[in-house]
Amino acid sequence: MKRELVLPALEGLLSATDAPARVRGDPVELPHRYRDPLDIEVSALLSASLAYGRVDLFKPRLTALLEGLGTSPAAVARDSTPRQLLALTDGFSYRMTDGRDVACLLYGIGAVLRAHGSLGARFTDHYRKLSNLRDALGGLVDDLCAPDLTPLTGVRLPSRRLKHLIPNPSRGSACKRLNLFLRWMIRGPDGVDFGLWRDIPKSALVIPLDTHVHRIGRFIGLTRRKDLSWLTAEDVTKRLRLLDRADPVRFDFALSHLGISGSCPSRRDPIKCSGCPLQPICRHWT
Ligand code: SF4
Repeated sequence: MKRELVLPALEGLLSATDAPARVRGDPVELPHRYRDPLDIEVSALLSASLAYGRVDLFKPRLTALLEGLGTSPAAVARDSTPRQLLALTDGFSYRMTDGRDVACLLYGIGAVLRAHGSLGARFTDHYRKLSNLRDALGGLVDDLCAPDLTPLTGVRLPSRRLKHLIPNPSRGSACKRLNLFLRWMIRGPDGVDFGLWRDIPKSALVIPLDTHVHRIGRFIGLTRRKDLSWLTAEDVTKRLRLLDRADPVRFDFALSHLGISGSCPSRRDPIKCSGCPLQPICRHWT
């Protein structure tokens, strides 16, 4: 990777990305509707964990779910009984997630809020102890899955569907949605990310690796790895760190929206590729 070519190309992509317009079509728009930091982090975790599949399909359901939780999703998580959580999430359905799964996640969030005050405080405890983002994230996921879920599901342990919502990075997946949540909480504030968890350095973040970022990352030499794994996310982040040691994931929003927008055709296309700031470093053109 040639830094002198890649950095200006990525800077060009960043400046060509209309962030306010993109935020309106992104799940991060939902936590921006709250002012209290606790409501922001709770709505952000719900939004990020349900951000799988097509945004035009999941965002309306997520919006309705959050509206059903009222003005303070954090208070709902912290103060509601299992029966109340089931009633509030009843009827929610999106692909492999239903209301009961969301109620279990809210129950786990409530347990963390009651014991530690905030998700950020608990994550920071783990990060200080473990000095490692992956292990700290695994610690937070373990906390969210720790409560006895019998009152919600009839079974003490978390279901496979809850583990899909909040996967543990120790199992090797890229954990795109949880790394997105961490990016929102740790970077910024910049109109996209919130910068709420100030004790965690943004240099520690790992790229939220989805199919778009992976595909475009391969085009521009950020990785040669073919799998969507945590190791590949770290491989991409390692190269991004060579471009910006302090803030390696600052190009993530622009890269992912280049893919989400459908503007990147995955092949040499003189019309679609014309004006793409990455053209000078894209393997389809070099
Ligand atoms: S030049 Fe074309 S294929 Fe390459 S990243 Fe840009 S839009 Fe995608």
